[in-house]
Amino acid sequence: MNVLKFGGTSVGSSKIINKVIGILEKYAQQEAVICVVSAVGGITDKLLFAGRQAQSKDAQYTETFEAIKGIHFDIIKELNEKPSEILLDTVQNILDDFKSLLDGIYLINELSPKTSDKLLSYGEKLSSFIIAETLINRGISAARKNTQELIITNSNFTKAEVDYSISNQLIRDYFKTSEESITILPGFIARSRHGEDTTLGRGGSDFTAAIVAAALQVKTLEIWTDVSGMFTTNPKLVKQAYPIKSISYQEAMELSHFGAKVLYPPTVQPVLDLNIPIHIKNTMDPEAEGTIISNEATNGSKPVKGISNIGNIALLTLQGSGMIGIPGFSKRLFETLSQEKINVILITQASSEHSICLGIEAHEAERAKIAIDHTFEYEIAWHKIEPLTVETGLSIVALVGDNMKNHQGLSGKMFSALGRNNVNIRAIAQGASEKNISVVIAERDVKKALNTLHEQFFETKTKQLNVFITGVGNVGERLVEQIKAQKKYLKDNLKINLRIAGLSNSRTMIFDEDGLDLNNWKNQLASGEKASLNGFFDTVKKLNLRNSIFVDITANADVAATYPDYLRESIGVVACNKIACSSDIEHYNLLKRLSLKYNAPFLFETNVGAGLPVIDTLNNLIASGDKITSIQAVLSGSLNFVFNHFNAETRFYDVVKQAAAEGYTEPDPRIDLSGVDVARKILILAREAGVEMNLEDIENKSFLSASGLKSDSVEDFYETLIKDEAHYQKLYASAASKNCQLKYVAKFDHGKASVGLEEIPQGHPFYNLEGKDNIVMFYTIRYPEQPMIIKGAGAGADVTASGLFADIIRIGNN
Ligand code: ADP
Ligand code: ASP
Ligand code: MG
Repeated sequence: MNVLKFGGTSVGSSKIINKVIGILEKYAQQEAVICVVSAVGGITDKLLFAGRQAQSKDAQYTETFEAIKGIHFDIIKELNEKPSEILLDTVQNILDDFKSLLDGIYLINELSPKTSDKLLSYGEKLSSFIIAETLINRGISAARKNTQELIITNSNFTKAEVDYSISNQLIRDYFKTSEESITILPGFIARSRHGEDTTLGRGGSDFTAAIVAAALQVKTLEIWTDVSGMFTTNPKLVKQAYPIKSISYQEAMELSHFGAKVLYPPTVQPVLDLNIPIHIKNTMDPEAEGTIISNEATNGSKPVKGISNIGNIALLTLQGSGMIGIPGFSKRLFETLSQEKINVILITQASSEHSICLGIEAHEAERAKIAIDHTFEYEIAWHKIEPLTVETGLSIVALVGDNMKNHQGLSGKMFSALGRNNVNIRAIAQGASEKNISVVIAERDVKKALNTLHEQFFETKTKQLNVFITGVGNVGERLVEQIKAQKKYLKDNLKINLRIAGLSNSRTMIFDEDGLDLNNWKNQLASGEKASLNGFFDTVKKLNLRNSIFVDITANADVAATYPDYLRESIGVVACNKIACSSDIEHYNLLKRLSLKYNAPFLFETNVGAGLPVIDTLNNLIASGDKITSIQAVLSGSLNFVFNHFNAETRFYDVVKQAAAEGYTEPDPRIDLSGVDVARKILILAREAGVEMNLEDIENKSFLSASGLKSDSVEDFYETLIKDEAHYQKLYASAASKNCQLKYVAKFDHGKASVGLEEIPQGHPFYNLEGKDNIVMFYTIRYPEQPMIIKGAGAGADVTASGLFADIIRIGNN
């Protein structure tokens, strides 16, 4: 004999009920089948809702009733071309009963636990009749038996306790004589010794099936649902979760106790001692292996078997000096909760005994507070203890595994993974058996926490990075294309799953928590929502994805001003925008501090030399104990272009115009020609070398003519270039007469920095610098005479994008 249970998700529509019928027929060819069914998916909630409406005098309960009725008759019609009269009559009778009960509740304004159980029993009564009669109607040998005649309980309504000695006997007696090849039983419902309707607790159909399986001592109990087994964590919240092949009874109980809804926790009890394995299977995918729950679980190499969570938790804290060393406080506290029938899910107590902290279901918190404050009325009045504090909006996340006790450092890993992602832990509990480590966190962090922990304990091989890019102009576009092209390589070789979860330009922005489709991002962005800096930050924060990185590819001061917001949320910042790092020293220091405090990387390699590894090299030198004594560098691609093309045969004006036309200068060429841009770069290098200075501290010997310096518009400025051609030719002639090249040089030497035009003699490393190349020479304690030199293209969209990309990968590799 086989016992199969099909949950609400497996009997939610005619289509899926047909699948169930197919499975039953196949099984019945081998052996007799007992099939326990839940109410049609979602119906139990609707029944309860109708009851609450009636109780609160909301006449709309009749509409809810009609909806419930409609759902059942639709299913009957879809399953049966010509439904039998007995099916239609019985269903109508059950619905009539149900309607009378609702009317009664409406009339007397009361929904007691006893009435609630009667009300909820209609769901399983209906589904079991419909399925059994459909089978019969199709000529399949089947019968329905009312479980209320087989399972007897006490009168503890809403979660009644089973009288096993009577129930086992009734079940055995019935099936000893039954000759049906398929017997349909309603799950969840039972009857008390006094003949009242009772239920076994929400999700209790699993339990019904286990009671029957144990009474009949069958070989296995099969629980059919909408997922292919018990997963490493809730697959609806973590895409990477996968089914666990085999798991012990204890682990399964622990996971389900902490919220893995796929199995109702008490289900394990009846089958445990008899060693009857529970097989979890997927109705939509019957070929999938599923999960076997038994004593012979293979532990595999993983100490953590699964991660689960329970939402809607309230944390109660009782504290005060009056508790220290005085026995009996905990006893009184727990007695109070027990009298109120409030279930305690988690307990932690500080070893000082100064406080005790409990996790319970949030909807019971108010009752708990009133009862506990009443119990400790005297102590509270005398300020020996404080009134109970209640925090809500919380959730418990638990790591579960029989083998965790044999591994060190698991809790450390758990806490640091959560900490790195800015998930604040409110309370911790670890059972002495070490089968479980639980933490209490904010409800809004649950999805991120589960994904983070899953990555930590089950996907050690891949790390997901979620990138949010603002400013998708020239450079941004290249970055997106580079990411798209390298996605597979990164996954295969660096085990990094790099996704772009948000994009914005100055007009619109788009987001996708599963990663944007990079084949179609331009169209999507064009029709995105209106862009705003606050809106962008709020969405990044709300999505709350692990390993989030904000990438700034603008030159905008307002964008730069948002970095602290991101860092405070432990979101990494990658910027090619130079404004933040060259702003005043207090702000720069603040960003560095926030980065350390919130464990959020702040990287800006492209601030100097575009894609050249200038800052990273400097940081590595310092981290390895070296000291920078001086830096000499040509850091402006634009100025290099200008002075490489300027000579006695050209006009300075024409060369600058050409540089602008080819995109080598800022739209306002004064930013480049005045040396401000270069000054910002050497400032950033000096700061990274450990010197506190500001932009004003950098000596800037400008080569511009006096009128050029004074010009107050771009047009005026170009005018001065024509007018002052002689001034610029003089600079060239002086250099040429000494056989020198003109280069715009940035210097940092023993704490002082300067920028200015210099005549570079033949043989100097700067002399042959071509096109828009940059060069940086680091003189350090370890490189005193021959400097470390970094040279290459220092401007351009592709190299800048690759510099940003390198920063993102640096974060991924950490
Ligand atoms: P049924 O109606 O079949 O009883 P339930 O909704 O009670 O189905 O349970 C199945 C659901 O449990 C899944 O759809 C899934 O969302 C949820 N679930 C939570 N944690 C887990 C887990 N660790 N493994 C599998 N499913 C889980
Ligand atoms: N129908 C009941 C519920 O929704 C029992 C079950 O589905 O297991 O709680
Ligand atoms: Mg269930």
